[in-house]
Formats: sequence, C-alpha cells, structure tokens
Amino acid sequence: MSDNKKIAQEIKQLTELLEEYNYQYYVQDAPSVPDAEYDRIFKQLQQLESTYPTLLLANSPTQKVGGVALSKFEQVTHQLPMLSLDNVFDADSLDDFMQRAIDKSPLTETAFCIEPKLDGLAASIIYQDGVLVQAATRGDGVTGENVTENVKTIANLPLKLRGENIPPLLEVRGEVFMLKAGFNKLNEGLIKAGEKAFVNPRNAAAGSLRQLDSKVAASRPLAFYCYAVGIFEGELANSQFQRIEQLKAWGLPVSSEVKRVVGEAACHEYYENISKKRASLAYEIDGVVYKVDDINLQQQMGFVARAPRWSTAYKFPAEEAVTTVENVEFQVGRTGAITPVAKLKPVFVGGVTVSNATLHNKDEIERLGILIGDVVVVRRAGDVIPQVARVVLEQRNDDVTRIIHFPETCPVCNSDVERIEGEAVTRCTGGLYCEAQRKQAIKHFASRKALDIDGLGDKLVDLLVDHKMIKDPSQLFSLTVEQLSSLPRMGNTSAKKLVNSLQLSKKTTLARFLYSLGIREVGEATAANLANHYKTLPAIIDAGIESLKTVSDVGDIVAKHLYYFFRQDHNLMVVDELISVGVHWPDIEEVAQSELLLADKTFVITGSFEAISRNDIKAALQALGAKVAGSVSKKTNTLVAGSAAGSKLSKATELGIEILDENGVLKLLGKSE
Ligand code: NAD
Repeated sequence: MSDNKKIAQEIKQLTELLEEYNYQYYVQDAPSVPDAEYDRIFKQLQQLESTYPTLLLANSPTQKVGGVALSKFEQVTHQLPMLSLDNVFDADSLDDFMQRAIDKSPLTETAFCIEPKLDGLAASIIYQDGVLVQAATRGDGVTGENVTENVKTIANLPLKLRGENIPPLLEVRGEVFMLKAGFNKLNEGLIKAGEKAFVNPRNAAAGSLRQLDSKVAASRPLAFYCYAVGIFEGELANSQFQRIEQLKAWGLPVSSEVKRVVGEAACHEYYENISKKRASLAYEIDGVVYKVDDINLQQQMGFVARAPRWSTAYKFPAEEAVTTVENVEFQVGRTGAITPVAKLKPVFVGGVTVSNATLHNKDEIERLGILIGDVVVVRRAGDVIPQVARVVLEQRNDDVTRIIHFPETCPVCNSDVERIEGEAVTRCTGGLYCEAQRKQAIKHFASRKALDIDGLGDKLVDLLVDHKMIKDPSQLFSLTVEQLSSLPRMGNTSAKKLVNSLQLSKKTTLARFLYSLGIREVGEATAANLANHYKTLPAIIDAGIESLKTVSDVGDIVAKHLYYFFRQDHNLMVVDELISVGVHWPDIEEVAQSELLLADKTFVITGSFEAISRNDIKAALQALGAKVAGSVSKKTNTLVAGSAAGSKLSKATELGIEILDENGVLKLLGKSE
C-alpha cells in the first residue's frame, strides 16, 4: 500500500471512530470514552489533515459542530450559527491565542472576558418584547431542536425579562447544566428505580433537556447561565463583559465568576484561582473560556469552520482517561483490611501519571464487572485517589482478559482471611503476626489501656520494626539496654528506663491482656466482660461463637472476630510466647476478692439492733467481701455486738477481738452520717 493510501485509510478510520463517539455523546447522551480520549483522537486527526490537506474528508468532524438535531423534535434554524470552541491544553498555547488577538487589535490595551467553561449543553433562547418565545439546542450548529417547553421549566430562567430598555428581539445563548448535588440525587433515584445512571452531569443535563415529556424535564434539577448574545434588535454595548452585565440587569442568570481582565498575567492567574476553586463550585466546569472583550475586534478576527478565532477554551487536565488493567494486586493495610489494587498501564490523568487505582473491595470488583486485561476509564478528580470509573466493554478482548481471584489467605502472612456478613471489607486474621499489621499491633499492645508500657511511643515502635529488632509484641521483652541504645536518639538512661518499664508491664490483668491483643472491635469494656465471664484465657480461646455471644456486649460480629483470631496458629504462637516471657495476671477470683474492702475478714454478729436488721448487716458485710460466721473463735476478726449481747461478747473480749457496736458497724458500712 502506498503511504498516501495508508494515511487516507487512517484518516477514514479516525473519522469513523469520532463519528461513532459523536453519536454516543450527542444523540444517546451516553459517551463510552472520556472527553480526553475523544480530544486526543480529534487532535490526531486534525494533525493528519493539516499535513495532508488533500486527504481531508468532507464529513470530517474537525470541520463541523458535533451534534445533530433529533427528528423527534421540531427543528429550529439558527439565524446566526451556533459554533463550538477551539481549545488549548497548556499555558503556552493560551499565550499564543492571546498574542494573535493582541497583534490584530488596534487598541493599546486588549481586554479579555474570562468565563468558567460550564459543562452542560448550549442553548439558544429567544425573547420577544421581553417574553421567552423559543428555546433550541445547538444541534449541528445550524439546525437545533425546539425544546421551548422543557427550557421553560428551568427554575432560574425568567419567562419574562425585567428592567429598562428591553430590546424587541433578543437571543441569549448559554449553557443548560445540572448542579452537582442535583445530579447525584437524580442518579441515586435512577439506580433505585433500576434504571441506568448518567455518566456525568453534562450527559444528565443533555438527556433531561431532550425529553419529549416536559414533565420529566421539569422534574430534573436543571439550571442555566447566559454567556453570549445571538441576534438582537436595538443597541447593545460593544464589550462582551458589558453585555453579560446587561443580561444580568434584565434578570437573566449569569455566573458570578465572569471577569474582564487585561494582561497575560491576570489571564493566567484567573485559571490558577478557579482551578483551586473548582471542586467547591456547585456546578461542573471543564475549563476556562477566554474571549476577546471588544466586539469589533471579535468581528474582525472572525471564525474558522467550527469555532470563532476570538475565543478559546483552556481545558483543565482531564479527570478521566482510558488505560489497561495489567494486573490486580492485593494490599494488606495496617488494620488487616485487604484492598485490591489495579495495576494500570501508566496514564496521565488529573494532572499526574497514574499507575495504580484502588478497587476498594470484592463488591466493587463485582459492581464494575472488571477483569484483568480490561480497558478501563480511570478517574482522578482533585486530590482524590484514582478510581476505576468503568470498564470500556466495547474494547474487551476475551483472548487476553482473566478473572480476578480474591485471595483466601493473607498475601503477606498467609493467615486465613475473614469477611464478616454485612461488611464490605475482607481482612487478614493474623493481626498479631502479619508483617503488614506489625507496627499497629505493637503500638496497640504498648498503649495505655493495654499493657501501658511507659516510654514506648509510636515513633519508637516504628524504629524497632524498621530496624528489624522486633516482629511481634513478645519480642519486646527480650530487648536489651545495649540494643535499645543503638537506636537513633535513644540514650542509655532512656534505654534502661524502657527495659525497666517493660519488666513492670509484664504484670497485668486478663482484661488488659485480652484488650492488648488488638482483636477487631474488642475494646476495653468488651475485654473486661469476656474476662469476667470466662475467668481464664484458655476458656476464652476455646469458646465457640455461640458461647461468646452470651457474653454481654458481644454480638455476632465481635464473636466471629474473636473466634477467627484464636483459630490462627500464628496468633496463638505469639500469645504463648507472651506468656512464656513472663506476661502474667492474677487469677480473676483473687482480683475480685482483693479489690474488696473486707476481703478475707471474718465477722460474727450478736445482740439486737435498732436502725438496721441483723440480716441487713450480714448482707452488707458479705457484699464487701467479708465472711460472716456463727460463732466466735480465734479466726474471728470482728464481733458486731448490738444491745443485750451475751456469751459471744464475753468470749470476744476474752480473745481480744475487735468489737463494733451499732454505730461502729453503721460507720463501717458507710450508712451513718
Ligand atoms: P466544547 O464543549 O469543547 O466547547 C464548546 C461549548 O462550550 C459551547 O457549545 C458551549 O456549550 C460550552 N460553553 C460552556 N461555557 C461557555 C462559555 N462561557 N462561553 C462559550 N461557550 C461555553 O465543544 P463541543 O463542540 O460542545 O463539544 C466537543 C467536546 O465534547 C469535545 O472536545 C469532547 O471533549 C466532548 N465530546 C466527547 C465525546 C466522547 O465520546 N466522550 C464525544 C463528542 C464530544
């Protein structure tokens, strides 16, 4: 094939591809590729056409405005064609545009009217004697669709103009768009109703405006901003900015971001500022439109096939781009959450090169229907981490795609993975052992409510792990002063102190120990309940899910976390190790007893009482841990003697036992004033 033939074929292919994309975008309001992909192919075709002008096809998309007027609508012919905009993607090209205008300008100062590039669709609205009589879409630039009834439902658009000197005929041009909040709500509703959601607010606005039933259009949250005047009768200012101000004065909605600016620096500054503001605006913008402000100069500069020469759109870096999923890897976070990450063929999107995108979890993989080898749309808006927005199914190649298998064991430590019903996240259950969770586990172990290891802060844990001095909490206890003082910023004294506090922290309680293991959702209160219920660690380790659920505070999810945690040999190994290095706690019954005021004390009660019954005294003493015996012996610690006490009192006196009268016992029990 000759070179020329090859080029001709390429031009034909690109033309056909763009036509197909145009059809999906303008007719179906459902683009299959991001705008950046369309723009890339468009530029490629433009370049070929300018190098080989003889091969340019009559139907080339570079020569016309992209839309079509659907025949289901009445057609409207625009008296002044509605053009598209030329665009630039970098600051130098913007400078070139401005320089061309300045070169043409007879004025000493060339001003530009700068406007946000609203991401919706263009509409022409005609007011006769101040009354809205017709509204039309841009269509192919010459013929549009009559959407008057739908446009009349747009809330912020006046059906009647107000103010002074209203022209007998005025065509305003502007953008119909959808507010971000309204778009999200609309899509939520559509998804709930089992219908297809819109890809972005632009397509939602286009789809809503081009509804045959204006009741549907009325239910959609559409808005309108003016940015130009088309045909008119009467006098208007010769400045784009002043015209916009005039439209505003007649009650027409205008973006508050429109500015008139002189000088290249101010033009660039506007772009920088609005880029920062973009995410917080209530509506989507996809760039900044620069227009020569002076209408005479505009007319002098004129236009090319599909766009004026006096205006250009400086587009923001695309937030979406197309690339291929080369692999999917699974990352284990510091809390054990396993996240699938798509490894992408590097792609420039949102101003940076992206080669990873999170797939979040198993459900998201299913929702996207994504396979390894798929062509996908990647989205990176603002500083948000890159996401896979959707799969380009049209470009799926069954020969190269592979199913994504979610791992059944942790890719880092090989422990079982767990996914609790109703939770989206799959987790590694080897919390105490898994390398990915090491730092987190040790920090938690040392924290105040756990083993409370004085002098072992988060930074030190990071250092110890990074220097490979410890792999799990049990190894903390064999650290030597020498080892510790070899660490940066660790003196001998602090090292000694830490070794000392590690020794002290070995003595703990079962509840704290259980809490220190960092089992998911086992907080201090739950740990204490478990300790009180089971009394010993082996009993907790052996407990089944149903048994665990009988403990107060422990529901199905916590029971499962506990159960799976203690089914991992790796975790049990660390627990055993902790005990063998000397971490210990007193028997739970002893703890309860020793914490009581009268634990181990034996009381005997005799005589009669006025303010309190004998039985009540007995119960109150027992509640404080005392034993209440029937007869006085050497083992008796205290005799409580009311009035008319007899032999017991004499025996107690004989044995030198402490004697309390009614007032004395009431005081002891905290019942007297
Ligand atoms: P455009 O959107 O790049 O620019 C022209 C339009 O900008 C105007 O018609 C108007 O609607 C709008 N606009 C917003 N604010 C404006 C302002 N202040 N002043 C003037 N105009 C303003 O061009 P287009 O011809 O509407 O569409 C072409 C673009 O659409 C392509 O560059 C591409 O990004 C996208 N597209 C995408 C696909 C796809 O498959 N993804 C297909 C076709 C077109």
